[in-house]
Amino acid sequence: MTSRTRAATYARRRKRRMARVEHDLTDVQWAQLRAQWGGCAYCGADDPALQKDCVLPISRGGRYTLANVVPACRSCNASKCNLEVTTWMRRKKLDERAFLVRQAELARRLIE
Ligand SMILES: [Zn+2]
Repeated sequence: MTSRTRAATYARRRKRRMARVEHDLTDVQWAQLRAQWGGCAYCGADDPALQKDCVLPISRGGRYTLANVVPACRSCNASKCNLEVTTWMRRKKLDERAFLVRQAELARRLIE
């Protein structure tokens, strides 16, 4: 009984937390992001079904916004999961610096 109540409390809290979070990425912005990256933001794969990946995962306070979303292929998205992007990229031996610079530039350009 106690654990059920606790679970319900956590669920309510999570719902409230998510409601406060702003997810303001529009479909147009998402299309622009995909066009600018021209493939998976992490490995460059040209996956026709690129997925929205939060650079800073939702579980760590990230949001679906222009500055935090990049297109990712299914394989990168699944493997990154909710790891911190730098930790994950280092582990995968991907160029995190090049990624972060490009990501910041693209986001800035699209926001302007
Ligand atoms: Zn990829």
